[in-house]
Amino acid sequence: MIILQDMSMTELSEYLTTEFGVRPFVAGQVYSWLQKNVGFDDMSNISLALRAALADKCIAAAVQIVETLESAVDGTRKFLFRLTDGNVVEGVLMRYKYGNTLCISTQVGCRMGCKFCASTLGGLVRNLSAGEILSEVLAVNALETEPRYVTNVVLMGSGEPLDNFDQVVKFLQLVSDPQGIGISLRNISLSTCGIVPNMIRLADMGLPVNLTLSLHDPFNDERALIMPVTNAYPVEEAVSACKYFFDKTGRRIYIEYTLIDGQNDSYAHAMKLALLLHGMPVHVNVISLNPVRETGLKGTSESNLKRFLGYLTKLGVSATRRRTMGRDIEGACGQLRRRYLEEHHD
Ligand code: SAH
Repeated sequence: MIILQDMSMTELSEYLTTEFGVRPFVAGQVYSWLQKNVGFDDMSNISLALRAALADKCIAAAVQIVETLESAVDGTRKFLFRLTDGNVVEGVLMRYKYGNTLCISTQVGCRMGCKFCASTLGGLVRNLSAGEILSEVLAVNALETEPRYVTNVVLMGSGEPLDNFDQVVKFLQLVSDPQGIGISLRNISLSTCGIVPNMIRLADMGLPVNLTLSLHDPFNDERALIMPVTNAYPVEEAVSACKYFFDKTGRRIYIEYTLIDGQNDSYAHAMKLALLLHGMPVHVNVISLNPVRETGLKGTSESNLKRFLGYLTKLGVSATRRRTMGRDIEGACGQLRRRYLEEHHD
């Protein structure tokens, strides 16, 4: 089956005119419906014959929301998306004063093996296609009548976006299409554990996204223990790639730093981090580890987190704590999917 949401307006027009003999304006109408993440049945201004022909060969909505949890604390909503092959991935909608940020997944599972992360526990199942990633955004956006319900997107759900490079880049093109949902790339954050060659490729493309490096530990020997990707790409190289990205795009870099109790929260860590980032236009988001049952790792206490932030500030590093949202609805990435899989295996 062909996923129509994988196609740009031009590709769709070409496909529908050659395969189904439709006129270009009809392709435009189909494209508009695809942005609403509906099925062919709902495409009311498309002829029944064409809808039936399309349904035979194509998929209109690549993902469906099968479960929604809403936080009683802050209104954060967590979604479970079902792909057409039965796999599930998750997303989270966080509400801020300036708009709504949707965190989405780029892969089913992940093969990066970070020790603190729930998404990687079962390894990589498969990559999502560009249209499947897009459909996560479209499905949530369609929940409300305002045309721009989702204003910001972060690629921080399950998966490593730069391990699915081509589809993620295609997604960025699709999601920012002014004829489509038209979310500006400046409102999109791409978070990576540090796959250096693909950070460089992304920089060379000049796409003005917000690049976030999940750093978590400035010492390579320690970082390698929690993030195996360090063995391939040392942290200095990942930071250099961030600098290169800034030089190419002019976009400030973000660093994600998750504090693990007694492991990466000392003054020595703050000092080394400050040295590593010296002179760079970066902002560090500090967060305490969200405990995942299977990992046995503990988050840093509130007082140690404040102390660590204080060190960074004194060392001249721009840093704030990232607000923890939706703790009451299966916090960390990958947890909801794991619970769903546990409940549904029979
Ligand atoms: N693979 C990408 C994006 C997905 S993970 C990356 O590594 O950046 C999104 C962020 O959540 C990363 O910074 C990741 O390190 C962090 N993360 C994963 N599990 C976590 C947990 N249990 N607690 C806190 N942060 C976690």
